[in-house]
Amino acid sequence: MKTLKGIAASPGVAIGKVLLLDSQEMAISKRPIKESSIPKEITRFQDALTQTRAEILNIRDKVSHEIGQEQADIFNAHLMVLEDRAIIEEVMERIKKEKLNAEYIFSQVLKKYVQSFLKIDDEYLRERVSDISDVGRRIIRHLVGEQKASLAELKDKVIIVAYDLSPSDTAVMHRKNVIGFATDIGGRTSHTAIMAKSLEIPAVVGLESATHQIRNGDNVIVDGIQGIVIINPTAAEIQRYKVEQTRFLDFGRALKKFKDLPCITLDGRRIELAANIELPEETTSVLSHGADAIGLYRTEFLYLNRAGLPTEEEQYQAYKKVVMQMSPKPVILRTFDLGGDKFLSHLEMPHEMNPFLGWRAIRFCLASPDIFKVQLRAILRASAHGKLRIMYPMISGVSELKQANKLLDEAKAELRSKKVHFDEKMEVGAMIEIPSAALTCDILASEVDFFSIGTNDLIQYSLAVDRINEKIAYLYEPAHPAVLRLLKTIIDNGHAKKIWVGLCGEMSGDPVLTPVLVGLGLDEISTSPVMIPEIKKVIRSISYEDAKRIADHALTLRTGVEVVHYLKLKYQNIMKDGIRKK
Ligand code: PEP
Ligand code: MG
Repeated sequence: MKTLKGIAASPGVAIGKVLLLDSQEMAISKRPIKESSIPKEITRFQDALTQTRAEILNIRDKVSHEIGQEQADIFNAHLMVLEDRAIIEEVMERIKKEKLNAEYIFSQVLKKYVQSFLKIDDEYLRERVSDISDVGRRIIRHLVGEQKASLAELKDKVIIVAYDLSPSDTAVMHRKNVIGFATDIGGRTSHTAIMAKSLEIPAVVGLESATHQIRNGDNVIVDGIQGIVIINPTAAEIQRYKVEQTRFLDFGRALKKFKDLPCITLDGRRIELAANIELPEETTSVLSHGADAIGLYRTEFLYLNRAGLPTEEEQYQAYKKVVMQMSPKPVILRTFDLGGDKFLSHLEMPHEMNPFLGWRAIRFCLASPDIFKVQLRAILRASAHGKLRIMYPMISGVSELKQANKLLDEAKAELRSKKVHFDEKMEVGAMIEIPSAALTCDILASEVDFFSIGTNDLIQYSLAVDRINEKIAYLYEPAHPAVLRLLKTIIDNGHAKKIWVGLCGEMSGDPVLTPVLVGLGLDEISTSPVMIPEIKKVIRSISYEDAKRIADHALTLRTGVEVVHYLKLKYQNIMKDGIRKK
């Protein structure tokens, strides 16, 4: 038995057998092969090239059909990489000489080429690096088997262990058969972790060496509450965790009694308690957990795991379904936020050194108004079917907000001219998740009806801590005085300009932080559906006046650790004294 410590990403306990996914770059195993197996290994490599070629041709045709010839031509460069005799011959020679498996040799050769290209001071060659890496990943995937692609078709219940899972891998996971997962990298607010929470799959991320320490078929326990993975546990440990698992499920069931009660403080302040979703199918869970609204619908998930972009009609149908299911409760639909850790393919978004600071979200949308307006029209059309609000991600200043609103006005005019109905009074909001937006929110407030604070990004940008890097996760402190001060600035400025202010980052789901969020004056809190009952219980157990005192005191403290220590004590008292029976 061995215990690994990581970051608790999605609560719950899973006990089961491991399906180990080879990571595409890091965990490719080095396997000696027999002299007699050399021809077979070379054939395996050649087959992978053929399969990759067929795959790329297929994508190229689809893209040319659905997007355009110019974009399709990009794939010709990928095909040329496949025909590069220098690479192919070196791989075959080395397999023969070193008697090692094809994927290992190929990854070594690839690395060498990429490094030498990066050194050459030639823009064109440097750009080829992303083509080579992309094609290389495809070839390796064929060599190690299409494991990730089969996540949606698993037959047995498994715990996935991987170097990393992209948000799009997570989105297709078979909910019944993936009972837990553990990854080497990643942080609590990575979209993979957020997705796991939405799917209610217990998960631990940032384990650093799980893929080296765990073998395929091992028994493991994933403790998504403590952030622990136990490899080959003893019978006694399994028994202990079965009890823990039942306790967790009972706790969830007990909390459900709060689901139909209003989200109101002891002294009568009402807070809209909303849910965050990534996929339209989650609406059922939103309603069953008793949310007042959807406070963040991450629409970019509609754009992932596919070759082309979703059409206006397809988007309209998806949004309409969510809006109608929720009606008369409101839905805030966030325009798509691609980039950062969510990518379509290399087609639309080139590889960047700092993707979280790069061409993502509204920046991409404003640069591609034709793509953006398809979504805006779909949203507007869906607004005719219930109460829909729209918000823009990653606003950094008022010019972007004005440009986005201008495109929204154009989309409205286009629909009006075709006599298509939409809600003329649809509320428009800005996410406040960049420090520059937080510090100029008095200016931004004049352009919108509400703010929704995206603390996942706001924390990473204000503390300069990459939200998906496990090595610096200890610095990612939602209760840092800098974060609390920014929250206060945003909420006070919003209120001074008579607009309402919500918060939809992951800190909304930590019950210990709820009193301070209420006390700072938030009008809305949006969190994972599973967390709604617990957060509602805290809000119903505290008075607004007490919460304000807690927030005021927290704002005088000097470090995040001091704030958390203070809030934990307060939380214990609140839960001891204040639990309201009805
Ligand atoms: C945030 O940044 O807090 C947020 C809610 O958006 P996302 O997590 O999708 O970046
Ligand atoms: Mg964000």
